[in-house]
Amino acid sequence: MRDVIIIGGGIMGLLTARELRKTGRSVTIIEKGRPGAGTTWASAGIISAHGTSGSADIAGLPGLRLRTASDEDWTQLAEAIAEESGTDIEYRLNGVLLIALDEAEAESIQEKARAREWGEAEWMPPEVLRSEEPCLSDDLAGALQVMGGNLEVRKLGPALEIACRRLGVEIITGCAVEEILSVDAKVTGVRTDAGVHEATAVFICAGIGSRSVPGAVPRPPITPQRGQMIAMDARALGLERVVMTVNDPYLVPRADGRVLLGATREFAGEDPRLTVGGLSWLLSEGTRIAPDIAACAIEETWSGFRPTSSDYLPLIGQGALDGLYFCTGHGPSGIGPAPASVRLATALYLGDAPPIDPAPYDPMRFA
Ligand SMILES: Cc1cc2nc3c(=O)[nH]c(=O)nc-3n(C[C@H](O)[C@H](O)[C@H](O)COP(=O)(O)OP(=O)(O)OC[C@H]3O[C@@H](n4cnc5c(N)ncnc54)[C@H](O)[C@@H]3O)c2cc1C
Repeated sequence: MRDVIIIGGGIMGLLTARELRKTGRSVTIIEKGRPGAGTTWASAGIISAHGTSGSADIAGLPGLRLRTASDEDWTQLAEAIAEESGTDIEYRLNGVLLIALDEAEAESIQEKARAREWGEAEWMPPEVLRSEEPCLSDDLAGALQVMGGNLEVRKLGPALEIACRRLGVEIITGCAVEEILSVDAKVTGVRTDAGVHEATAVFICAGIGSRSVPGAVPRPPITPQRGQMIAMDARALGLERVVMTVNDPYLVPRADGRVLLGATREFAGEDPRLTVGGLSWLLSEGTRIAPDIAACAIEETWSGFRPTSSDYLPLIGQGALDGLYFCTGHGPSGIGPAPASVRLATALYLGDAPPIDPAPYDPMRFA
């Protein structure tokens, strides 16, 4: 009998396992594929109080709170992961620009910056923006620089897997959980396609799979939102900061010289194929904000599915069964807010004081 079984080995499951194992709990992750190879792998990896474009306004202040509480953690966490795994996840605090396409956007961005408390923020008028990031369009009306940066998500999953295994977390891969088992409203374990595993607590961290695990109460109302992405060889551009627009797209300079251009937001089932409309929108909007990318070679394209809940806020905390916990449904903003989300979920399980008010994320709002 384990203390905790975690369903899903994405960023939420791996960080939760690491945190709980450090308190001495026996922890098993059951992952149907490879750890870190789900939505976490597909992400742009932007860490910013502003969130990814589009998600910022929808999730409102509770979304912002998870991101700002996590911002403080990422520097320490990236160092700890490097130490525990021997892997540099290329976390860089290179700054995030929220650019204004016209005067109206410039005004509303500055207005929101004052009201939303995005931490330290500095307005760059067009002439300063041009000298700081020469590859951006001359037509922009300025940009707000906020704290933040990005990390290499493709290194994050494998690094966390190594760190977890070294700590003594059991990780079972290629094994799907088919049902959460309970007796008298108390969790007893899970049934998988390879047998039953017993535990006194189960965490649902299964991303878009969280909506379809029988036995979960409540059933998370999560819908996959597809995001199509393009990676370019953009060493010649010299882009330094993450560049975001109010309604997408965004540009993310990686440490290896690639620049990511993302991402579409589509509710189109679970079809991972890229579309003509999706890619052409990304390319036309991308060249509008940074005309020089037209000369860049495309290195890779892919898509991923954001685990988006019906109110755009994650489910963090206990469900309707004794021993059933959720840390899932982060939708478009799940890498940046992960440290605070996991600290909150594990504090609620351990009976510690929650680091932030848990009410907005309570899974029971869907009961
Ligand atoms: C294109 C794109 C760009 C994004 N950009 C950003 C960004 O810049 N910044 C940001 O903060 N967020 C971003 N996100 C969102 C972020 O990536 C996600 O919110 C986050 O990765 C979700 O992590 P997770 O651990 O909940 O899910 P996942 O990473 O999907 O992990 C869940 C795991 O559960 C496993 N699983 C599912 N069902 C079962 C089952 N029944 N049994 C066993 N295992 C199961 C899956 O195989 C998977 O490995 C982006 C997302 C996309 C798609």
